[in-house]
Amino acid sequence: MTSARLSRRGVLAAAVTAGLAAREAVAATPAIPPRAQSQILSGVDDIPDPMGDRMRWAVVGLGNFAVGHMMPAFLESRRARITALVSGSPAKAADLAARFGVARCYTYETFDQIAHDPQIDCVYIALPVGLHAAFAIRALQAGKHVLCEKPMASTSAECRAMIAAAHTARRQLGVAYRVHFDPFNRQVAQMIRSGEIGAVRYLSADNCFDANPAFPPHAWRLTKALGGGGSMFDYGIYGLNGTLMMLDDAAPTDVSAIYTTPAGDPRFAQVEGGVLWRMRFAGGVHAQGCSSYAMSHINRQLVTGTRGSLAMDPANVYDRNVAHRRRVDQPDVVIDTTASLPQFSAQIDAFSQAARDNVPHRTPGSMACAILP
Ligand code: NDP
Repeated sequence: MTSARLSRRGVLAAAVTAGLAAREAVAATPAIPPRAQSQILSGVDDIPDPMGDRMRWAVVGLGNFAVGHMMPAFLESRRARITALVSGSPAKAADLAARFGVARCYTYETFDQIAHDPQIDCVYIALPVGLHAAFAIRALQAGKHVLCEKPMASTSAECRAMIAAAHTARRQLGVAYRVHFDPFNRQVAQMIRSGEIGAVRYLSADNCFDANPAFPPHAWRLTKALGGGGSMFDYGIYGLNGTLMMLDDAAPTDVSAIYTTPAGDPRFAQVEGGVLWRMRFAGGVHAQGCSSYAMSHINRQLVTGTRGSLAMDPANVYDRNVAHRRRVDQPDVVIDTTASLPQFSAQIDAFSQAARDNVPHRTPGSMACAILP
């Protein structure tokens, strides 16, 4: 394929410029955000071009998040390269393959043929949640490592089946909790660990947005078959997982929750529209939070300790996360980040390295399926 032989700068430039022109011709191709485009174009010169020992990835499901955020991040990664696309839309896949310099495309029907494709080591699954388990298991059975988008699945039975498939295949299964690779969140976690706010006593996390049934990526989220859980599984999970991260992945001793779905809202005939959750940890640490599909957008976390607090708002969006550290004995400190791509490419590189070296991954599949004692 001609585009696969283009220089790296040529491929990146083609991805951006041709993409702008081609978008109207291939209406289903999601947009690469302008900010990511400029980062791609400005950052390419220091990226080592040769394949070297990069892991070769197939991207499954070419939707908003995969195309708008992860595929540009692959271009920036140092240990990975996309070598295959898997889509239900051959025209969209061909368009993106040309723009990203990818030589092979599969459909969901031909997906199992990846077992015979030595140019694929890892599979990134960015499908609707209801399809995660089936495709992850198929990929593992094909002998590939799998990084699966969050939530890994909608039931613990599905999660356990995925983990068992990885064990049987002796391949890595990771859940794409990108926050663990976000320099901002890692910095905040480090501040907590180093005692900047004293002993942690209380955490809260709120993750809400107003779901629009007319927007296709929201429409499947509102169905039981494809969305599975609802607001908590889809968006509240960032606050819950972020809370555990700030506590060094501590396991709670108690968990409780109530539904807060607005009465009579037709959007929530199949999935919950809101959840209020609480957790208690050994040593008297408490946490609570809310998720909702029926509110204006909120993405914030608060960590309060014996000597101060860290208020993160937004806490775990793609870019521009901000935290205020407040203490009675010191001036406020603002922690700010502006880069959007590092957390995505860091996640891809970390998984690639873990898969290549056969060492534990930072966010293994087991992280998605914790069972309380
Ligand atoms: P989109 O609807 O934009 O993308 C999903 C893609 O899946 C579609 O474009 C389509 O790709 C494919 N697909 C296959 N079968 C179906 C079907 N029956 N209905 C709809 N789509 C189908 O969703 P998102 O990109 O928002 O979400 C995809 C995944 O990424 C989800 O698991 C979500 O939770 C996760 N996500 C993660 C984020 C993060 O920060 N880590 C942020 C946002 C989403 P094609 O046309 O190529 O077949």
